[in-house]
Parts: sequence; structure tokens; C-alpha cells
Amino acid sequence: MLIYAPLYVFPFRGVGAEQAVVQDGVDGQSTAFLSGAELRRLDARIARLTERADHSGAADAGRRTAGLPRPAEHAPLLPFSCPNCSAPLPLLPAARLHSCPICLRLWSVGAHGLELMPTRRLLPARGESGRVPRIECWLPFYRLRQGSEELYVPAFHGRHPRAVWNFSFALNRRAPRWTEVEECCRPGAAVERVASSAAALAPFLRYCLEREEAGGATQAELCWIGFVRRGPDWVEPGLGLGIPGTALNPWEATAELPMPAARTG
Ligand SMILES: [Zn+2]
Repeated sequence: MLIYAPLYVFPFRGVGAEQAVVQDGVDGQSTAFLSGAELRRLDARIARLTERADHSGAADAGRRTAGLPRPAEHAPLLPFSCPNCSAPLPLLPAARLHSCPICLRLWSVGAHGLELMPTRRLLPARGESGRVPRIECWLPFYRLRQGSEELYVPAFHGRHPRAVWNFSFALNRRAPRWTEVEECCRPGAAVERVASSAAALAPFLRYCLEREEAGGATQAELCWIGFVRRGPDWVEPGLGLGIPGTALNPWEATAELPMPAARTG
């Protein structure tokens, strides 16, 4: 992930010399006052970058920042913190959605800033004891829906894609039925796929294309499937299907922080 730290440079004519103030583009604070050799070095650096960008076909040469990579004209600059509780959001390089570590809300970076994503937890049916098993890890999946058909595609990558794939394949063959609740959870793995890339997974791709040819778009919903730890595996307790703990990324396998109590109603 490439992060731009935007800065404004305000040149002005000071007492007998060119000078400039550098201002942080996010918080508006002045960060430096440049003059003399420092300002000449900055100008030379910008000129070099401009030249390089112009050679690669960039237009509007001549302006101080012409050709420099810069955000679109009206792109919002956002502090990367939870809009609900202001907690800083963890910056996971591959994450496509961002989970607040404090209030557990899930955010997507949209055109107008951070947008709240619905959180849908899928709880296994009650066991023979009549109790819902206590879930220890929530992994993200997309539920691809068309008509009465549903497919669950992993929204995380994991370290062993084959193991994740095997689990998904077995899961879909079993046509699971869960109890669905709208409630936040602490993710056991980052959401690293967007819905469209999940839909493109083969052989789910074939499924989607067949349905698309028959008419009608596939609806993709993000949901979280509950897992319990059994030895080295994470097991979906309703079906008894497991993913080896080693198939997840290291930090995911150890994400066993306290979670809100599962609602059983
Ligand atoms: Zn929050």
C-alpha cells in the first residue's frame, strides 16, 4: 500500500529573498519554514520529479507541482480512525475493509469517506444440548446469492490457500443453515477480498457466469462464520468442518481476544 503524506508548499517573497512555508495537508499545521539553500534543494527536487513525470507523458508542465503524483482534485483526505469511536484503525496492508479494535464496527473506504459496513454473524444451530457453541474466531466469507442458491466464498486469503479452498468447497457442498444476527465481531482474519474478486474465484466463477448467462446478477453479502478451536484446527461447530490453524496468517491464528457474547436468541 502506498501512502501519500500530502504537504502544501506556500512560496512567498520574504525580506530580500524567496521563502516558503510547508504545511501538513491533513491537519493544516505548518511543519517547516524554508529559505536559502533548503528552498533551492526543494525546488530542484520538485523540478526533477516534474521532469520525470513529463517524460512519461504527464500534461500541464510549468506549474510548481505539475506532473507530481497527487490526489484527484476533490479527493477527501481522511484521518484513518473509526468514525464512531475515534479509535485509530489498524493499518493492515492487504485489508479491503477495516475493523475498529474498540467498537468492532467495520468500515469501507468509499467515495465520501469511511462507510459503515453491515455486520452479519452466522451462528451455528443449537447442538444436542440445546446450546449454541461458544465461538472463538470469526472468519469473513462472502455469501453469493442468486435466487434460492447460496455460495460461501472466503474473503480472507490465509497462508495456505488450498486449505482455505478445501474448507470452502466442503462447506458449500453441505448447504449450511445458520442463525443470522446483526452484530459486530472481532475478526479472526482481515477481509482481503472485495465482493467482486470473491465472485471471480474459480470454480465459483463458473457458477457466477452460468447464472449470469441465465440472467440476473449475483448478490454478494459479507458475513462471518463462527469457529471453535479443536486442537490445531479451527472448526465450524455446526458442521464439524475445520481449517488447520496453520492455514491462517500468524496474527490471525492467535487473534483470540475477548469477543462480545454471542446472542443466542
Ligand atoms: Zn470504533
